[in-house]
Amino acid sequence: KLQEEKKMSQINDVIDVIRRSDNIVITSHYSPDGDSIGSSVALYHMFKNICKNVYIVLDDKIPMNLQFLCNNISINKSEDLNIEDYTLVCVDCGDFSRLSCSDQIKQNSKIIVNIDHHASNNKFGNVNYIDENASSTCELVYNLVYKLDKKLLDKDIAQCLYTGLITDTGNFMYSNTHSSSFKMAADLLSLNIDKQRIIENIYQSNPLNLIKLIGEAIGTIEVINKTVACIEVTRELMDKYEIDFNDVDGIVNYARDINGVELAILFKEKSDSEIKISFRSKSYIDVNRIASKFKGGGHKRASGCTMNMSLKDAKSKIISEVLKHI
Ligand code: 5GP
Ligand code: MN
Repeated sequence: KLQEEKKMSQINDVIDVIRRSDNIVITSHYSPDGDSIGSSVALYHMFKNICKNVYIVLDDKIPMNLQFLCNNISINKSEDLNIEDYTLVCVDCGDFSRLSCSDQIKQNSKIIVNIDHHASNNKFGNVNYIDENASSTCELVYNLVYKLDKKLLDKDIAQCLYTGLITDTGNFMYSNTHSSSFKMAADLLSLNIDKQRIIENIYQSNPLNLIKLIGEAIGTIEVINKTVACIEVTRELMDKYEIDFNDVDGIVNYARDINGVELAILFKEKSDSEIKISFRSKSYIDVNRIASKFKGGGHKRASGCTMNMSLKDAKSKIISEVLKHI
């Protein structure tokens, strides 16, 4: 009960700030995903509907399969935005340095609102609405829209929130799926969103080359000690198939889904000196703890970090750390 009261007071604090703000800039993390785009665009529509000047700033490239959420709106780059006296609303990001906007955008904001569900969130906002038990940031935005004014929840917003909910729960498969997630889904579906069109956009519109890339990547899987599986996507492979770095998502799941594997690790080579690592676990290893050893973070069963070194060096550093956890 105390926890419920704490959540309510966090939501009320956010709403107070929003009501007092004329100008709002929304941003989220690098390597955007369904939850970060879903929650950003949902808030954009909500704030527009209550007559705010609102902008989304995301410097990183939006994955192809999420562009359908952004069809009728413009997404700004930091350098194109010329605005003063604004509230910065950060969603789905546990770490201030991981925001996909410039330092200037961060520093010039009057007040920072932090809405997130990462276990690793360090409460960098002036106002924080953080619930690490929530399935997704979209679930928090859903709670927020109910508290602000439930009449604001229209089809556009519902489609965004549904996207974050299904992508972060792996279609209701992961341990962050609670009864509240199904209640939220049922409520969103009752607004007549086109659930199959959302699924088709996210999961069933892959370019053939992406599937071929996945095929080759699966060929790199190595299993260590029967419990750890590593998979790689090199720069060369992405160039060969002309697939953008941010469009390579979900590949780590093939490694996780092997019988007996508890921990899966994807090494994705952004350049010859920048490697993005994804960790996934099935039932007992806390991968947020592992990622935090490398200045990364995330959740217990899904986390990540970036290492500025070669793929070979990153792999050997990560594996020697990981072996301490199994
Ligand atoms: P993914 O492996 O899909 O990129 O990320 C898995 C989870 O870990 C997501 O919730 C993501 O936000 C988080 N995550 C990924 N990379 C980082 C990172 O470098 N730092 C932090 N704090 N979280 C990360
Ligand atoms: Mn999320």
